[in-house]
Amino acid sequence: MQDFLDKDIFKLISDVADRMQLDCYVIGGYVRDFFLYRPSKDIDIVAVGKGIALAEAVASKLGPRTKLSIFKNFGTAQIRYKDFDIEFVGARKESYTRDSRKPVVEDGTLEDDQKRRDFTINAMAFCLNKDRFGELLDPFNGLQDLEELTIRTPLDPDITFSDDPLRMMRAVRFASQLGFDIFPETFDAISRNKERIKIISKERIADELNKIILSPKPSIGFVLLEKTGLLEIIFPELVALKGAETKDGIGHKDNFYHTLAVLDNISLKTDYLWLRWSALLHDIAKPVTKRWDNKLGWTFHNHNYVGEKMVPKIFNRMKMPLNEKMKYTQKMVSMHMRPMQLVEEEVTDSAVRRLLFDAGDDIDDLMTLCEADITSKNSEKVRRFLQNFKIVRRKLAEIEEKDRVRNFQPPIDGNEIMEIFGLGQGREVGELKSYIKEAILEGEIPNERQAAYDYLIQKAEEIGLEPIDKNS
Ligand code: ATP
Repeated sequence: MQDFLDKDIFKLISDVADRMQLDCYVIGGYVRDFFLYRPSKDIDIVAVGKGIALAEAVASKLGPRTKLSIFKNFGTAQIRYKDFDIEFVGARKESYTRDSRKPVVEDGTLEDDQKRRDFTINAMAFCLNKDRFGELLDPFNGLQDLEELTIRTPLDPDITFSDDPLRMMRAVRFASQLGFDIFPETFDAISRNKERIKIISKERIADELNKIILSPKPSIGFVLLEKTGLLEIIFPELVALKGAETKDGIGHKDNFYHTLAVLDNISLKTDYLWLRWSALLHDIAKPVTKRWDNKLGWTFHNHNYVGEKMVPKIFNRMKMPLNEKMKYTQKMVSMHMRPMQLVEEEVTDSAVRRLLFDAGDDIDDLMTLCEADITSKNSEKVRRFLQNFKIVRRKLAEIEEKDRVRNFQPPIDGNEIMEIFGLGQGREVGELKSYIKEAILEGEIPNERQAAYDYLIQKAEEIGLEPIDKNS
């Protein structure tokens, strides 16, 4: 423990705090992560007394080039030192009113400060003063909870969650990130207080949701969100995926657990948040498109396209970005069945070319999503699909090598077509352009200028058009 506190910066803070006769501690996430062997760059320092004054004195010790930011309103100050973010605050006592997560704050003792922390594992502190340097202050047995992989509130959980309902999302998020369980009484209090989540801003909820999605096994978080009842409030579309109906002895899979399996699968392959979001949303329209067909059984026709349209509504409601990340997610949802269709039908060159053209640079992500989408319990089926996807991937590489359709630009564009035939803008130009594109994608002509030109002239003739200068 001394080892980790030997960092120069802790020694320096220790000296300054002793000189100022301030009791001073490193607290919260840094201490938790120390015990979890997760090196952290965020250091929270709590001083019993003036946190800002301590930060100012530390900054001046570090030299004039030190970056110090003071947030008077919050009573906090921040120092950037090497690549550490060190936040200083005075120990505080908090009391809440029912309709807000903004507490009334007064100066307090270290214990007061530890009591206002969300979880026992986040309430531990190391003393920095010289005579007690490295002493662990753990009044709520956070270390034991860390060993037992438990998320538990230091105080009565009903009070903790009612005071600041964001803590309910944080409980689930830490459980998901660390692979911990939520202590039964803590869990029950989340269920009881779930409605209070409504006073939390959409942005903060999305923030926690993203952290859950980015955790090593996100299904842990989503199952907890569902079981506590939070998911129904913040993300009802996912809850609608739950359940497996049976009719005339024919069932369909439970799309909630299927979706989580796909999300876990994809999380083994990528840390890219938006590909993980795509996995989460790929089947989101299954409940609204579900039909019973006497011949086919359960169908979910067009769930990919309906899903594509649901993405902006969900992102908008959750105050998520409505930018190219959302468009990427839409594209993935809309296209998630394409490679599978290729596998089921014959893998022809033209089908592969079309897939490449439509997916563009996102083709690898799409293939990764499709492979993650195979969650069948039938291992023979899984093996066969994965084998077929390997063939598709090989074909994709071959065709891209040969035809370069991934970022396909037709060799003759609309402007040129207008010049060649002396046309103004209009339907005919669009038609001729798409003839060329189709012929290339179908493999009728190579992706080359002369071939495209000859083909264009031939097609134009069919609709009674001639080039104005036959030598061009
Ligand atoms: P991460 O960096 O992964 O978000 P963290 O716990 O290290 O997690 P912060 O969210 O910055 O980082 O929180 C720092 C500390 O502040 C926590 O460890 C906890 O002690 C306390 N804390 C943060 N948010 C709350 C909250 N809503 N209620 C009570 N204590 C909180």
